[in-house]
Amino acid sequence: MKADPFKIPSNQAGLYIHIPFCLSKCGYCSFYSIKSINLIPEYIAALKKEIKHYSNVFSSFDTIYLGGGTPSLLSIGQLETIFKAINKSYKIYPHAEITMEVNPGDVSLEYFQAVRSLGINRLNIGIQSFDDNILKFLGRRHNSAEAISAINDSRKAGFDNIGIDLIYGIPGQKISLWKRTLQKTLSYAPEHISCYQLSLETGTPLYKEYALQDIKLPAEKEQLKFFQTTADELEKAGYIHYEVSNFARKDKFKSRHNQRYWQHLPYLGLGPAAHSFLGNRRWWNTSAVKTYLKEIAQDKMPVENTEILSAEQLQLEALFLGLRTKNGIDLKLYKTKYGADLLKDKETIIDALIKNKLVEFKDGFLRPTCTGMAIADSLALI
Ligand code: SF4
Repeated sequence: MKADPFKIPSNQAGLYIHIPFCLSKCGYCSFYSIKSINLIPEYIAALKKEIKHYSNVFSSFDTIYLGGGTPSLLSIGQLETIFKAINKSYKIYPHAEITMEVNPGDVSLEYFQAVRSLGINRLNIGIQSFDDNILKFLGRRHNSAEAISAINDSRKAGFDNIGIDLIYGIPGQKISLWKRTLQKTLSYAPEHISCYQLSLETGTPLYKEYALQDIKLPAEKEQLKFFQTTADELEKAGYIHYEVSNFARKDKFKSRHNQRYWQHLPYLGLGPAAHSFLGNRRWWNTSAVKTYLKEIAQDKMPVENTEILSAEQLQLEALFLGLRTKNGIDLKLYKTKYGADLLKDKETIIDALIKNKLVEFKDGFLRPTCTGMAIADSLALI
């Protein structure tokens, strides 16, 4: 029987490469990145060493994800160097999903064509909004015209698997404006849409303004309305709401790479702050670029810490991650993998959640309802 190329093989791992550079800091961003792009050549040389180092742990990958920061700040030559290093040390499967995050302000038709010739077959475009006032408020470097050009150029370059990232719940944003953003997004028929609710984390520029009461986020009830409107509009257009923030036009367009994170499948993360997971071991790198470069120059791996997850921790994570996905938790698989009977262990609470229409039990799966997905973070506390 022919293998289904879209089924995630459990013996193949995903590779994440972090590009920790941004030309400016977006107001809401809490990810680690620095503006010193003069360090990029040195960074790529260090990354090459780290790529080679793990070839005695991982042998093959069927997903690669270049995230950031801003991977689209890299020149084609720099991207080529990274891919040459990857291909030299690992087997990359012919059907591999190879994703790159791009910032609409950096790209052109020629750039996309060259990116595609390197084997990158999926783009995640950080559009966030088509409204210039909102883009300005968020501190994005691009405007709506550049967002539209980026989408059109990616299609002209032949990309047939693009994802559009959006942010909602911006202070003062009306549901009607958000609906228009969704309709505009749908007019480009992207294969994947991610919709994130704006959250203001400590230390971000927007949080400082928020703390001073200059800006107000929508109240909880309003946030729920945004969430449900998003789900309704995109599902009406035929998209599959397969994870709290993620929608795919077809099953085959669900992010295979991200599903590794949600299914406890192995992945290797390279670059500052990147996390890796194998078996019951998780480890992560130091987050400072300068420390990362220094340690690699001294032939040390820049691992900041490692944790071995106990059976209970793995179960809790599987529950937390599973209830964020539409598929939910396969109770038979859960029992085989984690040696626990979820329905029996949490019977009273699961009954209460079912009564409150937050989860449903069907065909051997425990699944969140749409309302359950909206409050997925608290569901996991059961
Ligand atoms: S481009 Fe992305 S990583 Fe960089 S500051 Fe903006 S949100 Fe953060």
